[in-house]
Parts: sequence; structure tokens; C-alpha cells
Amino acid sequence: MLHPRIESLDRDDMKALQARKLAALGERLAASPEWCDHFAKVGMHPRDLAAADGLANAPTLEKSDLRARYPFPMLTVDVSRVTRFFATSGTTGLPVLFGFTHKDLHQLLAVQVARQLYCIGVRPGERAYQGYGYGLWIGGPAHDLGLQELGVTCFPVGPGRAELVVQWLRDQAWDAATLSPLFLAHLIRVARERGIDPKKDWVLRNAIIGGQSVSRAFREQLEAEMPAGFRAYNTYGTTESGGPNVGTSCPYSHGRDEMHLINEDTVITEILDPETFKPVGPGEVGEIVVSTLDKEASPVVRWRTRDLVRISGKPYDCECGRRGMPTIGRIIGRSDDMLKVRGVLVFPSQVEDVIAATPGTVKEAWQIYVDTVDGSPTSMTVAIECDAGYDGAPSNLADAVARSLASRLGLKVPIECHPQGTLPRYEAKARRVLVKEQP
Ligand SMILES: [Zn+2]
Repeated sequence: MLHPRIESLDRDDMKALQARKLAALGERLAASPEWCDHFAKVGMHPRDLAAADGLANAPTLEKSDLRARYPFPMLTVDVSRVTRFFATSGTTGLPVLFGFTHKDLHQLLAVQVARQLYCIGVRPGERAYQGYGYGLWIGGPAHDLGLQELGVTCFPVGPGRAELVVQWLRDQAWDAATLSPLFLAHLIRVARERGIDPKKDWVLRNAIIGGQSVSRAFREQLEAEMPAGFRAYNTYGTTESGGPNVGTSCPYSHGRDEMHLINEDTVITEILDPETFKPVGPGEVGEIVVSTLDKEASPVVRWRTRDLVRISGKPYDCECGRRGMPTIGRIIGRSDDMLKVRGVLVFPSQVEDVIAATPGTVKEAWQIYVDTVDGSPTSMTVAIECDAGYDGAPSNLADAVARSLASRLGLKVPIECHPQGTLPRYEAKARRVLVKEQP
């Protein structure tokens, strides 16, 4: 552990630390008229966060609340004190900006990300390829800060330039990588094409993979194509939580496909029923709702991420020694991506699981097409790619996927099988569900 005094706290001590910080947060928000208005919607005042049930009763926050306060929503500090703005890659409308002060970047985000990197086994003095994107997106800059904080030598190439990256992974003997799982799959493919064998020619030991959730089968296949002992650890976070700072697998939880809520001392994560907003219990599925405790600019209280996860059946007391930082599964879908087709609930992640587990498919290339009438899905089609090396007929592959999907979902779904390289590729968040509105 990089911060054993915090990371080994038991659940009660962690709760007590959060309660102290919530009271201080309430004091800070009380100075902001926007935050006072927001709490007043439910008859509360920000100082009520000091009460034992203050957070549980506080109003949730979502994009519409922020859009209504354009251009610098609920900022809490003067714009001149903001060092840098980030924004989410919104698919509709203008991006919503989140400010970060110097302290937010260098004393908070850097430390949060360094803790995660240490948790997965990255150590000072190592060399790391930074492969997340830059610009308004927080992924790249956040990992630069974390690597620097930990004392790791950073090669900030970002996503893209794959031919250079596969060669430098060999020639510069990089130990660690921070990148999206789809880009890692792409790098492995490009390496092979150029006569580089990742298994023998690279020494990469650890990767922290985020930006999108991939199935366990996909992740295990990536690991099998890499040097012996290589692990690709899941990570999760959002711009609103202050960066890629919410969840990370440890070497023990990795095997269970679970992540610790690794920064519980600075980001409170509630897993709530998306309809009742009551906490769900161990083993149950709920929406991730985050509150930032230490952030100076653009703090959030009960931000609805819309991301759904299952809390571990045994969330506390991991073998790694973290006792009060509960474990959650990987993201299983978005509450607004959840499809109800002919009365059956479908998560895109279930479709991905089936495709990843079927030999002959291209794991990173698939789409769901949905036909809707008045916004309600009436039918869905799944498009897959047939790997160039598959020796059967494409129709056989389509049949195999259709059979597995039918047994997994209880729904007959038509499968379109395309040649390798013809479906869209995504570097960051993939848009797996494309909707067609019928006239
Ligand atoms: Zn652990």
C-alpha cells in the first residue's frame, strides 16, 4: 500500500473520516449561492451534510442541473483560481466543464492516481507508456500526474501512433502501461503484423485499463497474448468524480474481476437503486453515485454516473489488507443503455460476454442496432466481425453467436457477420448501441 495509514482503515474508521470531511464540505458549499439553491430544492442546506443522515437525504446531481448553470456550473472558486478545465466526452450538446485548482491536480488527483498505480504493482523507477487521450479529456493528464507523483518515468504518447508504440515497448523495455483495453488489443495486433511477438519481445508486467468496461473473457485473452505474468487491471472513474480515481483492482480482487473503491477517503461512492435511491446490499446491482470530499473547484455531491455495478457478495476485508475499501464488480452497463426488448432486459455487456467467448469473432468490433417506435425498442440486431483467420463459414459463426445469445438472454437475436476491419473502432468510450427510429 502506498498510504497504509488510510488504506488499511477498517470500515468504521473510514466512515468517521468521511463524516468529518462531509461536515467541512458542507461549510465550503454554504458559501456558494448555487449550492445553497440546489440543496434548497429538497428543503436542505449544505451544512446539513454534517448530520449523520445528511448525505443520504441530500439531492442528487445530474447533467441537467449543471447545464442550467452554463458556462461554469457550481464552480465554488473564482475562474482565475482554476488551473485547468476538463470535460466529459458528451455525446449530445456542449461539453460540461469541470475546474481543477493547482491543489486539485497536484495534491489530490496526482495522489489518488499514484495510489492506484501502486496498488496494481507499479513501482518508482519503472518506465510507463501513457496511452490515454489528452485535451479536454482527463484520462491522459490524470495518469501523467499519477506517474510523476509515484516517481515513474512517463512516455506520454497517448492513443494512436501504434507502430511507434509497439517498437518502443520492445526497444525501451517499458514496465507498465495506462491505456484503454481496446487500444491494447489493437497494439497486440499491430505488433504481430510487424513481426514483434508481445509475449517474447515486450517486458510489460502491469497495465491499468479503463475508459470502457470489457468482459472478463476479453481481458483474459489479452493477458494470454502478453508476457508471462502480465496483468491488465480494471480501473474506473469519471470527470465528475475528479478523474480516474474511483475503483481499481488489487492483485487479489483482480482474479474475482472486482475493484476496490480505492479512494474512499477523498471520494465517497454510494451504490444506489436507480429508482428508490436507497443503498443496495452485497451482491446486488445499483448505480454508482459519487461525492467529492476534498475537491476545491467543481465539487460534486451525489453525482449520478448512470453506471451500474454489482457490489461484491463479500465487500470488505480483502486479502490485500484493505479492510474498509469495499469491492465492486466491473461496470455492467449504463442505466440509460439498459435495453428492454420485447419485455427482456438486455445489457450490452452481456452481448459482449457472448461475443468475447465465441472463437472466431473479433473481440473489439461489434455493434447493437436497435429499431424503435416512439422511443421504445421493438427489435435488435447484433453485428459482429469474422476474424480473417477463422476457417469456417461466416454463417456458422453467426449461428454460434445467435445460439449463445439466445441461451444467455432468453431472446432470439439476428446476427450480421461482417469481414474483419469493417465495423467502427473506438479509442475511448465505445458507442455500442445505435438506435434507428422508425417513421
Ligand atoms: Zn484487495
